[in-house]
Amino acid sequence: MARRRQIYEGKAKVLFEGPEPGTLVQYFKDDATAFNNKKKGTITGKGVINNRISEYLMNRLGDIGIPTHFIRRLNMREQLIRQVEIIPLEVIVRNVVAGSLAKRFDMEEGTALPRSIIEFCYKSDELNDPLITEEHITAFGWATSQDLDEIMAMSLRINDFLGGLFYGIGLRLIDFKLEFGRVWDDDQMRILLADEISPDSCRLWDVKTNEKMDKDRFRRDLGGVEEAYQEVARRLGIMPESGPRDMPGPDTIQ
Ligand code: UDP
Repeated sequence: MARRRQIYEGKAKVLFEGPEPGTLVQYFKDDATAFNNKKKGTITGKGVINNRISEYLMNRLGDIGIPTHFIRRLNMREQLIRQVEIIPLEVIVRNVVAGSLAKRFDMEEGTALPRSIIEFCYKSDELNDPLITEEHITAFGWATSQDLDEIMAMSLRINDFLGGLFYGIGLRLIDFKLEFGRVWDDDQMRILLADEISPDSCRLWDVKTNEKMDKDRFRRDLGGVEEAYQEVARRLGIMPESGPRDMPGPDTIQ
């Protein structure tokens, strides 16, 4: 298969050179990893579904004025994005205690937080994405205080919007991870929402049953992983028409 030049391969996605300067093609794989690569597996059809879910959510966020890297979906597994310089932070927004927060403070999962909490981790597989503070971020030059103010304001706005959007389809947005990147338009630097928003990067629990509808089903061997991803897409009204198993592979882009 003739392919474009590969720029980067991550755990769940591959980035290829885009058709025009300043663009990239983001390809969504079915591969899943957890616990910093210690657990590996495949979630059949995940790439197709995450491509759709991320497209949908980035478009809705664009509608309310959040600048994102998303340009358009190209085919079942690929989307065209703006090339950004990734800020090496994982921005975690939490509404309910779960995952590493529950562990860190020995708190019960499911406890609603009195206010949303933003945490920062340094993106480094070798270091296991350590939790950091704004002091580290500014001291080590990963972002300025102004950048952080903008990132935090955007993250809280995204949280409010997505929390409402998911609640409307019977899902509680427990927590999620965002990544941001920089672009330069002439001499003006702008910060854009980058990466993806999907059940790989969000915790989503069914409002009525508290059932987990996200990657925790894979992390914790709960079964029904594919079905959970499909159900999120179905509730969003964006299940691929032909079903997740009908994957003809990427079309060539014009
Ligand atoms: N998350 C992510 N990528 C990471 C770490 C976390 O997408 O490398 C997401 C995760 O899916 C969850 C949120 O960020 O929705 C908070 O994750 P947490 O810190 O609880 O870590 P985990 O329990 O996933 O190790």
